[in-house]
Amino acid sequence: MKTSRMVLTFGCLAGLLSSSLSLAAPALKPLPQKIRVLLVTGGHPFEKEPFFKVFQDNPDITYQAVEHPNAHAFLKAEPAKQYDVIVTYDYGQKITEEAKADFVARLKDGKGLVVLHHAIAAYPAWPEYWNIIGAHYYLAATNIHGVAKPRSAWKEGMDFRLHIADSNHPVTRGMSDFDVHDETYKWFDVAKECHPLLTTDEPESNGVVAWAKTYKGTRVVYIQSGHGHDTYENPNYQQLLRQAIRWTARKN
Ligand SMILES: [Zn+2]
Repeated sequence: MKTSRMVLTFGCLAGLLSSSLSLAAPALKPLPQKIRVLLVTGGHPFEKEPFFKVFQDNPDITYQAVEHPNAHAFLKAEPAKQYDVIVTYDYGQKITEEAKADFVARLKDGKGLVVLHHAIAAYPAWPEYWNIIGAHYYLAATNIHGVAKPRSAWKEGMDFRLHIADSNHPVTRGMSDFDVHDETYKWFDVAKECHPLLTTDEPESNGVVAWAKTYKGTRVVYIQSGHGHDTYENPNYQQLLRQAIRWTARKN
């Protein structure tokens, strides 16, 4: 009796263990060399400590955080030798013609680009930025080639589910649908060339909320999630960001 109970207990434990393991995403192989990230912020408040912790805890990377207006100096060719991928979490910045040219030149050089959350609405008077990120977020109602565009919307504190749109893509590989407490964006345009990575059925959001694309040969990912600590601390978000940085760095 005792033996069979032990076997039963062991069997249950083994079953629980294997089922919990099957739910966990496969571990990523360590990289032989760290990816060097330039992390650009400025122009929008955010919870700094838990945000930067996501990058501190990412075993794939080293990073340098720069804040506007100091960020543009790092887009020059010489300082850009110090990083492989640009991650932007900035907003609403004016940009000089010189900085625009440097930004495009670095992408042409092959620097990967990961654009996070409110950075979708950065550089509102620079049309090429919309080509780079594959989206146009309208800070005011406008008219594009005779088509009326309402002001894009946002709503904080929403609870909704994100669906993996392509489980074969390196950015979302190994991931399952997950729930977030985050901000939604709506009524912005996404370019046809963008490859959907995450979608949602939440009516207060656009359907496609993360995508991959290329720009002049370099890899670009946009991730709408990431308003605050609820998302920063979500292991699914951390994995998504980790895999996005790897993909844009051509390391997966
Ligand atoms: Zn936000």
